[in-house]
Amino acid sequence: MTTTDDFDPLYAAAHPAPLTEVTLYSAPLIIPVTGPVILDGAIAVSGSRVVHVGTRRWVLDTLKQDMATNARIDEHHWHGVITPGLINAHTHLQYTNMAEVGRGTYQSFRDWELGFNPVYERLCEEGDWKASAEEGARMMVEAGTTAAADIVTDPEAAGALASQGMHGVAYWEVMDWRNDEWRKVGVRELVRHLGRMRAEDLPSVGISPHAPYTLETAPFVDLPDIARQLDMRLHIHLAETPMEAGAHGAEGTLSTYSAASWRDEDWTSYQQLKDAGQGASAIQFLDQLGSLGPDVHIAHGVWADAEDRRILRQRGVGVALCPRSNRITVTGRDAPIREYLEEGNLLAVGTDSLSSSPSLDVLDDVAMLYDLAREQGYAGDDLSHRLIRMMTLGGAQELGMHVGAGRIGQINAGAMADLAFFDVPVYVATPRGIEDTLEELVRHGAGTNRATVISGRVVYNNHAF
Ligand SMILES: [Zn+2]
Repeated sequence: MTTTDDFDPLYAAAHPAPLTEVTLYSAPLIIPVTGPVILDGAIAVSGSRVVHVGTRRWVLDTLKQDMATNARIDEHHWHGVITPGLINAHTHLQYTNMAEVGRGTYQSFRDWELGFNPVYERLCEEGDWKASAEEGARMMVEAGTTAAADIVTDPEAAGALASQGMHGVAYWEVMDWRNDEWRKVGVRELVRHLGRMRAEDLPSVGISPHAPYTLETAPFVDLPDIARQLDMRLHIHLAETPMEAGAHGAEGTLSTYSAASWRDEDWTSYQQLKDAGQGASAIQFLDQLGSLGPDVHIAHGVWADAEDRRILRQRGVGVALCPRSNRITVTGRDAPIREYLEEGNLLAVGTDSLSSSPSLDVLDDVAMLYDLAREQGYAGDDLSHRLIRMMTLGGAQELGMHVGAGRIGQINAGAMADLAFFDVPVYVATPRGIEDTLEELVRHGAGTNRATVISGRVVYNNHAF
């Protein structure tokens, strides 16, 4: 303990005390993600942050020493499972009012695009993107999601995360630029939009170069440079469609060899490279342009062969898997989930938007990933653990928010107090029972969130406490 005579601000920061008001969330099972599961656990929250997490008895003992004399502890007991707030690593909240597109049936990815475009154009005329995006954010909060990678095409929609107090990044989407037009007007237009988004009170702004089939080469060279100069993150739809696959299926062949034959050419676009008979995948193409790095995460990663997956690991690029969306938009195959898991790629989960998915509940995609991983032959007994990490800390890592001040996707001292409360049956009498509970959460947890805490505030409470 320190006295007023020798007050040390560093000591006080390391041991926040005396605490005057603490909220204690206790439950039979807490999943901190950055530590082992805790039975009969408790999380002490002061202000926007976690101060302690551990067994309920230990947390109460520790708090005794930290609390001011007349301070009070407000305890909320939950009978289910508490996890860090879930993180949706790929969505477009703006398109929440486009569910009619998501309910359609399509023959190909192009067919889905043709279904999407007229509805989008009509809503640009007569829709309310702001209301649509905020409705999507509300749905996410109800599902226990507290942060997202959200792609926007209209500045009106950019405040959706902030409207619910959520964390994450609003990525400004850049698409449909040819090289000459991009250089002439594209860059200026981008900077104008970014300035407008920065002026509002948004959690964080990033850039989303749409995809290698809607942007030519110049924007893919410029956008990462611009983002990096402005300390912004990048998020790209990549390896989603069949045309982005490498032609030679060069399993095990380093792209150093194939790239040598084309990298000195001044390719106008990925399409031109393909038309010239070059076998590079879209991931290899963007890698050669310098567009990849640890500040980038990609959505889908469906058409990624062994060399593509190696490149992603080598560059520190995470993948947001969106399995339900891939079926609706007819990407032609499921992502190589087994290989990603066995090889150790950085993974997270995204729902995509309601224009290509039936819900904004990450756990619906997690359940499908569980089944797909098993169907593809992933036999590890850690699958539930891996999926829990993907929907929390993995998402945080892909957003660059897993370490440092304001970190999310984990429950530990100093982290943001973002929590979700799931109503799944809890068996803690045996280790097998605990594993069964985790499996129940990942396979059948969708729709069972009953309360959501963001930055220490209860933002959703469906009779949980
Ligand atoms: Zn998308």
